[in-house]
Amino acid sequence: RWGAATIAGRRLLSKVGGNGTPDPMTGELTALPDINVSRLEITRNTKPNTPPPSSTLMFDGPLNLEPSSTVLHYAQTLFEGMKAYRQENGKVTLFRPDMNMKRMNNSARRIALPTFDGEALLDLIKELVRIDKHWIPKEPGHSLYIRPTLIGNQKAIGVGPPNEALLFVICSPVGPYYPKGFKPVALYGTTEYIRAAPGGTGAYKLGVNYAPGVMPQKDAAEKGYVQNLWLHGPEHYLTEVGTMNMFVVFKKENGALELVTPPLDGMILPGVTRDSVLSLARDHITGKNRLPNLPDNLVVSERGVTMKEVQEASKSGDLVELFGAGTAAVISPVDRIGYLGEDVHIPTGPDGMGPISRPIWTELVGRQTGTIDSDWSVTV
Ligand code: PMP
Repeated sequence: RWGAATIAGRRLLSKVGGNGTPDPMTGELTALPDINVSRLEITRNTKPNTPPPSSTLMFDGPLNLEPSSTVLHYAQTLFEGMKAYRQENGKVTLFRPDMNMKRMNNSARRIALPTFDGEALLDLIKELVRIDKHWIPKEPGHSLYIRPTLIGNQKAIGVGPPNEALLFVICSPVGPYYPKGFKPVALYGTTEYIRAAPGGTGAYKLGVNYAPGVMPQKDAAEKGYVQNLWLHGPEHYLTEVGTMNMFVVFKKENGALELVTPPLDGMILPGVTRDSVLSLARDHITGKNRLPNLPDNLVVSERGVTMKEVQEASKSGDLVELFGAGTAAVISPVDRIGYLGEDVHIPTGPDGMGPISRPIWTELVGRQTGTIDSDWSVTV
């Protein structure tokens, strides 16, 4: 069963799949129905809320689930996070939504939830955003956060591939992450806990990756840091920052600047923002698309970086900047890492950003909000 629902005042509830073919012996759905947009039924909320003031935004709308639903016990849940932007001319756009659809299917495959036609789901999401576009705040920097979610809701105590799954999409108006300009954050280089492990699930956007990060995040906050810097292995390789990918910039001996992010080795979530930052930097270097104010002497690497390398570069003056990258904040500069009882200091520019992140942020946000034309922006 496929359902799609938005819970932002109106409700789009659709049964866009069939019932599938159950295995006669086990009841497991061996042939899952795919999303069929032509079966979309729109049920409008007869008592829609009006959008509340942007400062008081919250989710609403219950789901009915059996207490034995496998999602509640075995974390058969995955999600995506994307945004709809209202452009100055009133047009509403999504940013590289095909990447979210691909990642969502990859996540589904990893936990044996049914995969689906990503383009068909995207059509449904566009329809939903068209219906609810008055929920996109008009203030600059605001957007509609879109959260497609897929859960296994088989009523069973056993662990196995589910014979029932539910796909729903919730939306929530959101404001800018940094309403008062960039504020660099302090990270806690976390050595007591890990976010992901080789062969694990870190490369997928699964619910199971997030709950275990909450307690370490609280610990970090109690120590005076905003987020965890997730490290891996005895060498303390940097992996991700809170729920963002991370980048670091080093000054090389020949004067070049090296923009580095960890490789997609199975422990790193393949972020849409990560990919966009890499593409923009690489297209600048090759001359395919030069970005204003981005230095020319730039090299881009996907390689491992240890805390030792960051610490030494900080001491020698070869550390240029370090930042997180993700849909929510776009780019989040870092000015300090608490690591094994010491603070590693990271330079930040006068406006909080560095010489690489600033021009890349400008281009990214321009493409997201439509002030810069690009085929990454998809009209709803
Ligand atoms: N890493 C993790 C663990 C995340 O949850 C996210 C947010 N989806 C990211 C990285 C950034 O990914 P994206 O750029 O696609 O938002």
